Amino acid sequence: MADLQTRLEKLGYAIDAPEHGGDFGPTTEMAIKEFQQRSGLDVDGIVGENTWKALVESSWTLGDRPLRLSQPFLRGDDVRDLQSQLNALGFTAGKHDGIFGLGTAAALRDFQRNLAVDEDGIVGHETLRALERLRMVIKPGLGARITEREARRADPPGLAGKRIALDPGHGGDDPGGIDANGLTEADWVFRLSAKLGLLLDGRRAYPMLTRGPNDGPHVSSRAQLANRFGADLLLSIHLNSHPTPIAAGAATYYFQGGTVASEPGEHLAELIQEALIKAGRADCNTHGKAYPILRETQMPAVLVEPGFITNPEEFAELVETMDDLARSLMEALERYFEYEPDQ
Ligand SMILES: [Zn+2]
Repeated sequence: MADLQTRLEKLGYAIDAPEHGGDFGPTTEMAIKEFQQRSGLDVDGIVGENTWKALVESSWTLGDRPLRLSQPFLRGDDVRDLQSQLNALGFTAGKHDGIFGLGTAAALRDFQRNLAVDEDGIVGHETLRALERLRMVIKPGLGARITEREARRADPPGLAGKRIALDPGHGGDDPGGIDANGLTEADWVFRLSAKLGLLLDGRRAYPMLTRGPNDGPHVSSRAQLANRFGADLLLSIHLNSHPTPIAAGAATYYFQGGTVASEPGEHLAELIQEALIKAGRADCNTHGKAYPILRETQMPAVLVEPGFITNPEEFAELVETMDDLARSLMEALERYFEYEPDQ
């Protein structure tokens, strides 16, 4: 009975002190009834097998125990939390029913594969860390955000504390370019973005992805998301395509509309282009463009195409060297934030 009361209190139900220690008084009964109501159980105030089971399930929080597909299916609020996080990140885990079934297992493996976490289908320490690190859905209150913005002005140069929106191109129904083996631009750029996100997190920046691995929001919603996030910069990642398979090389784009160009954008584009050339890419230069993702974002924004998906040799190399590429991009962003124009 005392265990029952402890569990109820942990869930936020109030029980009067005189009943502590196991007396089944009116507030304990009320707590049980409220819990039953919330859990969709028969509201009889009696702790039978179903109510006790539901109470145990509600007591789990994510990280308390390893989660995996098992028979019978694991149930609990930790599973529900996992499902809602996976869904928020764009990995379709189905409805938040708190049951670790086949859909949740598939979504988890998809997440692990895309984030280069050991694809073991188990929510252990490594997967929890990866979930934590990719805070793709962030809803700070306006007040908090303004304070943060003030704080950022006083930030030392470097990546720490910077908000960086990473925008993997295409996605959903739009695969972008496709190589001879059926690999898509959408998939490749998502993986690169996720890798870059983890590297940036390692430098204590706040990376945010504008989409999950399977969805393809409209460019304007991506720009709005980055604006609301208060990003310090946005990097949109694509691959180039050309009917001629020998077309090769890296190009980077910053905002330019008519005679107006973004100066920080151009600076960032140059740093990225430099890093890509150093990494062995052929130089297709930086260019001013009025692409919507560059035009509709309020922060310095750059779109990079590290190479051509239509060039089999170049793309094979890009696939093989994705880790190096992510590091080169991270270093270019780092250099950008080390630059202090007025000092
Ligand atoms: Zn593209």
